[in-house]
Amino acid sequence: MIGCECDVCTSPDKKDNRLRSSILVQSPETTLIVDTGPDFRYQMLRENVKHLDAVLYTHPHKDHLAGLDDIRAYNFFTRKPMDIYADSLTEEALRRDFYYAFSDTKYPGIPELDLHTITLEPFMVKDIPVTPVLVWHLKMPVMGFRFGKFTYITDANRIDESEREKIRGSEILVLNALRKAQHISHFNLAEAIDLVGELGVPEAYFTHISHQLGLHAEVEAELPPGCHLAFDRLTLNV
Ligand SMILES: [Zn+2]
Ligand SMILES: [Zn+2]
Repeated sequence: MIGCECDVCTSPDKKDNRLRSSILVQSPETTLIVDTGPDFRYQMLRENVKHLDAVLYTHPHKDHLAGLDDIRAYNFFTRKPMDIYADSLTEEALRRDFYYAFSDTKYPGIPELDLHTITLEPFMVKDIPVTPVLVWHLKMPVMGFRFGKFTYITDANRIDESEREKIRGSEILVLNALRKAQHISHFNLAEAIDLVGELGVPEAYFTHISHQLGLHAEVEAELPPGCHLAFDRLTLNV
């Protein structure tokens, strides 16, 4: 956190220094990103991501949208608009926050987007199958995504039984766990661990972690078998 001097924010362990939550999903043919937070540009530079086919959005909060403008680098190389997948709530925010990308008079250098409105219907991003999973962030609907045996869920504090069914059978689940203390719109660590057990997913990684959770090494050592803390640059093969 900006200006914070706590043990986590000043930790020499790289796993304690986190940027905003996002994942990159890659198949031999396709590369997609889930969310473009304010760190999107730096994350793409750091990982040297030269090609991107699509962006999927979970929900309209700024820490998941703010970096969209830098999509224009990919527009520049491919000379075509970026495929964007978002539900109607997020679409509304995109049209408002990035109004200039949707205006009739386009000046050079603005991000070019090809917006696809998604519902809970499964869809394909080239060869990657995507099943949206509806989760709740207090009262806001958030899209989780299942890609084959891998499911990514962020910014949730409640999941209806019908949607839990879509997650079951995943081999790996990434799930948000903000901190140990209760939070109004995020699972805390105990809730996230319970949910992993309830869903029967053998391997889980907790994400969207606040500095209030504690040091990575200490918390990781306390977790039950199969549960881990995610960290920036973590790579999983599914
Ligand atoms: Zn949020
Ligand atoms: Zn968030």
